[in-house]
Amino acid sequence: MSALGFPVLFAQNGKLPDVTSAFIRDHHIAKVLIAGGTAAVSAAAEKSLKALGVGTVRRSAGGDRYETAALIANTYFTGAKGIFVATGTNFPDALTGSVMAAKNHAPILLVQADVTPDKAAIAFVKKNAPACVTVLGGVGAVPDNIVDSLLTGKPVPPKTTPAKFDPKGPMVALTFDDGPSKYTPRILNTLKQNDGRATFFVVGSRVSSYAQTVRDVIAQGSEVMGHSWDHRDLTTLSASGIRSELQKTNDAIHSAAGVRPAAFRPPYGSVSTTVKSVAKSMGLSLITWSVDPQDWESQNANTTYNRIMSHVKNGSIIICHDMYGSTAAAMERVIPELRRRDYQLVTVTELLTASGGAMQPGVVYSQK
Ligand SMILES: [Zn+2]
Repeated sequence: MSALGFPVLFAQNGKLPDVTSAFIRDHHIAKVLIAGGTAAVSAAAEKSLKALGVGTVRRSAGGDRYETAALIANTYFTGAKGIFVATGTNFPDALTGSVMAAKNHAPILLVQADVTPDKAAIAFVKKNAPACVTVLGGVGAVPDNIVDSLLTGKPVPPKTTPAKFDPKGPMVALTFDDGPSKYTPRILNTLKQNDGRATFFVVGSRVSSYAQTVRDVIAQGSEVMGHSWDHRDLTTLSASGIRSELQKTNDAIHSAAGVRPAAFRPPYGSVSTTVKSVAKSMGLSLITWSVDPQDWESQNANTTYNRIMSHVKNGSIIICHDMYGSTAAAMERVIPELRRRDYQLVTVTELLTASGGAMQPGVVYSQK
């Protein structure tokens, strides 16, 4: 705001401190821009500005401080030739730079590590194509990949720590097809509580509606791979049709979460020579399964539990569907029981590379 040639004043606990009120009164301030929602500057504080004689009070409030900063940029800095980028985790760098930002009529956009910048901030950069980008603070405050993401719109993958597991110990890969859905978070939660991970084979057309869920899967340490764009039997399509199904799905996953899967699961497990050769040309492996409880058919948690427990062994890839409450309920018993039996719950990639090799493009894997 200081870029408008106005000073920045602070509210505290949503209220106007006496010094702030005194400044506004003494200098007969006629216009005030409030930055942030009523949690930042309360409605009561806004009202008291009127009582102090302020003629025009405007509020720019996004859903959070990052969105607020982007909103201010988009409202007041159209045509700006430069931007300042500062951490929004705390404000000193942004405040220190605000004088320069004011002088240059360039907005300050706030970012945080490991999080794709606000889409309105990315939109501002795209629209105004600033010739000059000034980063306030070191790479600890504003990492290079975040600046890159702000300038290109490329999503930043959620921060994950590589999982520790014993590659020689017993392990199984739980996999969930056809989602994401409203049941996915419940399964993720069960995995989290039991130190487990899984692989989610998502239908591409569903990804943008569940983008946060896709990011949550990755942040939890689990894995996301494609299951075609619209659940087509790939063997009924031409090579270019197959390619488009796989490409669109991986693009959707990448734009939601910043990761590019190295494998996919063909719908119905349906594979042909053409499907394999297209997959190979795209560098993708194919994942099927070795244990199938047919959870979609029974939609019964007990049946799903019993079928998994009677067939599971070291190296199994278990197919389930995160589309049913019954499957999410079954997982609340299956996952702790597998852990009790000393199975490590790993991703498909971890399972298939535990012995040291890499997954080969164009090859179908159904178990370790
Ligand atoms: Zn499916």
